[in-house]
Amino acid sequence: MPPLDAATLLMVIAVIDAIACVVWLALGQVLRIAPRAARRISAYHGLLALAWWPALPAAMERLVALPLDVLSAALLAAGVRALMRVRYRAWDIAAVAAAGLLATAATAGDTDLSTARAVANLAGGVLALMAAWDVAAGAGFRAGLTSVVVLPYLVLASGCFWRAGGLLGWMPAGLDLAGLAANAPLALLRLVVDLTIATGLVALVMQRLIARVRHLTRRDALTGVLNRRAFEEHLARLQAQAERGRGHAVLVLDVDHFKRINDELGHAGGDAALQHLARVLGETLRDTDCFGRLGGEEFAVLLPDTDPDGAMRVAERLRQLLQAQPLAWGDKLWPISASFGVATMRAGDAHGRGALARADAAMYAAKARGRNRVLRAVDEAELA
Ligand code: GH3
Ligand code: MG
Ligand code: MG
Repeated sequence: MPPLDAATLLMVIAVIDAIACVVWLALGQVLRIAPRAARRISAYHGLLALAWWPALPAAMERLVALPLDVLSAALLAAGVRALMRVRYRAWDIAAVAAAGLLATAATAGDTDLSTARAVANLAGGVLALMAAWDVAAGAGFRAGLTSVVVLPYLVLASGCFWRAGGLLGWMPAGLDLAGLAANAPLALLRLVVDLTIATGLVALVMQRLIARVRHLTRRDALTGVLNRRAFEEHLARLQAQAERGRGHAVLVLDVDHFKRINDELGHAGGDAALQHLARVLGETLRDTDCFGRLGGEEFAVLLPDTDPDGAMRVAERLRQLLQAQPLAWGDKLWPISASFGVATMRAGDAHGRGALARADAAMYAAKARGRNRVLRAVDEAELA
C-alpha cells in the first residue's frame, strides 16, 4: 500500500466535515435538537470543509484559507458554549476571532505568509483553549470522560501555538513547519483531532438529550416538582438509609377544598393554584429535600435527617407560608390552605410506603379536625 499523502488526508478531512455539516444542520433545524449550538457546529464543519478542500488555490491562503481557519475555530468555540449552556455571552470569542482576522489582514503587504499564518494559528489556539475551558466547566460527565472530550482541544491548541511559535522564529530551527498540505503525519494528527472533536460534540449533545429525557420522565408536567414515580424512588433510597439507622421524615399535604377552587376559578385557575403552591413551597425547601406531587392536589416532601419535631416545624412553616401567600387570579386574591400529615421513616418498612401511608393518615386526620393544620402520625405521637 502506498504511504498516505497529505493531500489525500486533507481530502478525507474535508469530506468528513462536509458530512458533519449536513448532519448537524439536520439535528438542529429538522429535529430541533439544541438548534443554536447545532447551527454553529454545522457552520464550523462547513467552513472546515471549505478550508481543507484541496482545490483551494495556494494564492488564496491569506484571503480565504486563513480567515476560514479562524472563523471555524470561533464557531467551534461558540457552538461548544451554546451546547454547554454556559450563561455568559460569546463576546470574548468574537473579540479573539476579530483580532485574529484583523491582524491577518494587516499583514497584506508582506511578501511571505509566515506572520499571517502565525497570527491565524495564535487566534485558533486561543479559541481552542476557550472551547476546552467551556467543555471542562460544563460537560457533566465523570472526570475521566470529560478529560477525554477536552483532550483534542488541548492537542489542537498546542499544535496551533507550536506552529505559530515556529513561524515567528521562537522555536529552534529545523522543525518542519510546512503547512498540513505538505506534511502527512501532521495531516493525520489533524484528522484524528478533528474526528475526536466531532465525536465529543456528538457525545455532548447526547448527554444533553439524555438529561432532558430524564428530566421529562421524572418531573410533573404541570408543577415541575418530582412526579410520583421519581418521588417513590427517592422514598425507597431514603428507606434504605433508614434501615441503617438514619432518621428521615415524610410529610404529606393536600389542598383544602380544592374542588371549590376549581369550581370558582375554572380548571385553568385550579391548575394555576397548584403551580402557585409548588412554587411557594419549593422556594423554601432545601436542595436535599425531595418535593413531589403524588397526584391531584396531594403533594409530599421527604426531609432527610430530620427528627419528628423538626419535621413538624417544617410542615408548620410551609402551612403558614401558603396561607400568607394567596393566589392572584383574575383581579382578585384567592386564599389557599392545605392540611399536613407528618411521619418518620423506620426500619422494616417496605420501600418507605408505610411512612407515606402514616403521613397520609395523619393528613386525613388533620382534615377531619378542621383542615389548614399539621398533625403527626398517631403512633409517633405515642412514641414521642
Ligand atoms: P379536601 O379539603 O377534603 O381535600 O377537599 P377537596 O375539594 O380538595 O378534595 P377532593 O380530593 O375531593 O377534590 C380534589 C379535586 O381536585 C378533584 C379534582 O377534580 C381536582 N383535581 C385533581 N387534579 C387536578 C389538576 O391537575 N388540576 C385541576 N385544576 N384540578 C385537579
Ligand atoms: Mg383536597
Ligand atoms: Mg385530595
